[in-house]
Amino acid sequence: ITFDDLGLSEATLRAVKEGGYNTPTPIQAQAIPEVLKGRDILGIAQTGTGKTAAFVLPMIDILAAGRARARMPRTLILEPTRELAAQVAENFDKYGKYQKLTKALLIGGVSFGDQDALLARGVDVLIATPGRLLDHFERGKLLLNGVQVMVVDEADRMLDMGFIPDIERIFKLTPFTRQTLFFSATMPPEITRLTEAFLSSPKRIEA
Ligand code: AMP
Repeated sequence: ITFDDLGLSEATLRAVKEGGYNTPTPIQAQAIPEVLKGRDILGIAQTGTGKTAAFVLPMIDILAAGRARARMPRTLILEPTRELAAQVAENFDKYGKYQKLTKALLIGGVSFGDQDALLARGVDVLIATPGRLLDHFERGKLLLNGVQVMVVDEADRMLDMGFIPDIERIFKLTPFTRQTLFFSATMPPEITRLTEAFLSSPKRIEA
């Protein structure tokens, strides 16, 4: 199987090839066509399996296919740490370089003023840590009603860090019609419960 077989746009394929990837990893080959079809995903995968591109690449195409400029963010990616969020933001820039998409990175250590200005202009994707995202929401600077695709990455690390109540709250702030892409290296009972409550007939992929 090659990247050309997965249903990605020409623009994204060009960026992928320039980025130096030749063959999709197993999780990419399994997840990307399903994400493009609109399906929920439960990916049981460690870092190093290529799971970031498994959600970033199809999300870029889902966003690029929507013509009207969104004032409300259409996609949301939750990461447990600032560092992971910053890495995902870099992936978005690298693979989305031929498509005009806007993003806001909502993590601690960045001034609220700069982030507020971006949010007011309207962004396509929010890449955030849960606490910072909720800070913006509580300050009235953010609405999640427009979120069509939401990613929860490294869910088991979120559990270790005590973020599960925040994640539940964020799920409830987004439309229940959203598409959810959920990744965890392990499936402890609290995580299984969360997926049962918030995913809709997910395709289960183990990498
Ligand atoms: P991740 O599991 O998303 O943290 O990715 C692990 C590493 O694999 C990163 O350095 C990626 O740049 C790299 N990678 C992801 N997908 C591919 C691919 N299809 N071919 C080669 N390298 C890849």
